[in-house]
Parts: sequence; C-alpha cells; structure tokens
Amino acid sequence: MRALNADLHCHSTVSDGLLAPADVVRRAHANGVELLALTDHDETGGLAEARTMALELGVPFLNGVEISISWGDDQTVHIIGLGIDPDNEVLLDGLRNVRSGRDSRAQRMADELDKVGIHGAYEGARKYVGNPALVSRSHFARYIVESGYAADVKSVFDHWLAKGKPGYVEHTWASLSDAVRWIVGAGGVAVIAHPGRYRLTSGQRRKLFTEFKALGGRGIEVLSGSHHDDEVREYARIANEYGFLASRASDFHGVGESRVDIGKLPDLPEQLTPVWTVLEDVTCIRLVS
Ligand code: AMP
Ligand code: MN
Ligand code: MN
Ligand code: MN
Repeated sequence: MRALNADLHCHSTVSDGLLAPADVVRRAHANGVELLALTDHDETGGLAEARTMALELGVPFLNGVEISISWGDDQTVHIIGLGIDPDNEVLLDGLRNVRSGRDSRAQRMADELDKVGIHGAYEGARKYVGNPALVSRSHFARYIVESGYAADVKSVFDHWLAKGKPGYVEHTWASLSDAVRWIVGAGGVAVIAHPGRYRLTSGQRRKLFTEFKALGGRGIEVLSGSHHDDEVREYARIANEYGFLASRASDFHGVGESRVDIGKLPDLPEQLTPVWTVLEDVTCIRLVS
C-alpha cells in the first residue's frame, strides 16, 4: 500500500515559523501533503486561517498544537496535540497560562545576552515576532544573525541559546500531566515531539515514556526533521516496545531554518501504526466544520 504523505508538525508566524498560516498550507499543498497539522507553540491562533486555506485547496487538515512542558530535572519537552477542538476552554486557558511567562523570560534572556556583549536583543527579537504573546528563542536567534554575531540560527543556539549557554534562562512551562489532560480533554491525541532531541539518560527516557503513557499519551514522533537515521530506527523500536502510535513530522519553520521541508520526510518504517489511523474520523469532522 502506498504510504500517506502526512506531515503532522509545522509552524507559522503565529509562533516561530516564517510563513503565515495560509502560506504554510499552500506550501504543503505544493509539496503534495495529503494530511497536514499546523502545530504552533503554545498557541492555536493560526488554525482558523490554515483550515480555511486547507478547505479551499482540498488538503485534509488536523488542528494541532505543540505544548512546552517542564519535566523531571528542569528538562523542556514538547508535547504535540493532534485533532484538538480549538474552542475547548480548558485547553485555551491552559495555553494562555503557558504563554504568559514568555515576555518576562525574553527580558531576562536579553539581560543575560547583554552581559556577553549582545545588546538590544529584547527589542531586536520583538521585530521578528508575529504574535506579541509568543516571543521565542527563534526570534532572538534571527536578531542575532541579522546583527552579524553569527552566520546562522543553528550557531546562535550552539553559542548562546541552548541549555547551559549564556543566553539561556531557566523557565517553568506546563506539566506533562496538564498538557496531556488538556489535549485529551479537547478530543485530541497526545504525541511526544522529536524524542531524539532531549538530553535524557536511558532511565529518564524510560520514565518519561512510562509516565506519558500512564497519563493517556498515545504517540511519539518516529520521523522528525530533528532525527537522524539511527534515531528513526531507535524510536521505531521504542514505539513498538511501548505500543505508541508513530508520527511523521517535519517540524518545518521556514526555508533556510529547517533541515526538512514540509511533506518531504521519508516513509514511516514498516510494522508501526501511524498516528493518523486513529485520527481519520477527527480529520473528516474538522474538514467539514
Ligand atoms: P522556545 O520555545 O522559546 O524555548 O524556543 C524553542 C524553539 O527554538 C524551538 O521550537 C526551535 O524552533 C528553536 N530551536 C531550539 N533549539 C534549536 C537549535 N539547536 N537550532 C535551531 N533552532 C532551535
Ligand atoms: Mn520552534
Ligand atoms: Mn519542538
Ligand atoms: Mn516544533
């Protein structure tokens, strides 16, 4: 059977992507995507625009979100919600709370960057923000590249913005149990984003997957723009071991910033259950609504 060109993780200007929601959908359509979810960070504000364009172009579309959580020993983990009801009040309230700390965090980041010679970063990052409630490290990275301190966004993270670097400040996001509860309560399926990105010991990883599953989490991204081939094999094995559904997820933010374009991932390894097998009904409902 031919594999579905599903892409269930990407960003728009409503969070830290470079394209407006409608343009994300246009690009997905041009790249042959057959099932798309827009998953902005901590924000559902781009879904209506994306859904309208998806209807116009005939691209099957899922409402999505990527929720920032703090887990364990101050680890930041991202949880994707797929097929959520974007009007669910508990989810919307929860996301509003998650977003509310971002501005003061940005000011603290700018203070720290100032100490290492990068000046004006708060105002600079704000110039790149499409949604005033959603200032992220990506916006800082764009400002730092534009100011000539680094050649590209990746090296900004390597030098200044990754955990342990001078511009990184600790921040408390949602809890794992809140994120899963909001997603499931809004009718969605919870999926661990890019598991290969977290710096966890094997014991911590086991604990994360076990807790996530016990809370009602159902999937992990096996294919991700962040995963190399060995990680794809590793998370395919883990999906089988834990009985997780498998997702296919470019995490596209924009041309020049993303390793994988929207809809351009390889097929999922065989013997996995794709997450969209449990989302087909939701997809149809969301498409006609
Ligand atoms: P924030 O939610 O403000 O902590 O920003 C997190 C975002 O920064 C991620 O969603 C990515 O878009 C981006 N990011 C994190 N680490 C890296 C990296 N090493 N290289 C490029 N972008 C990154
Ligand atoms: Mn991002
Ligand atoms: Mn992420
Ligand atoms: Mn993402």
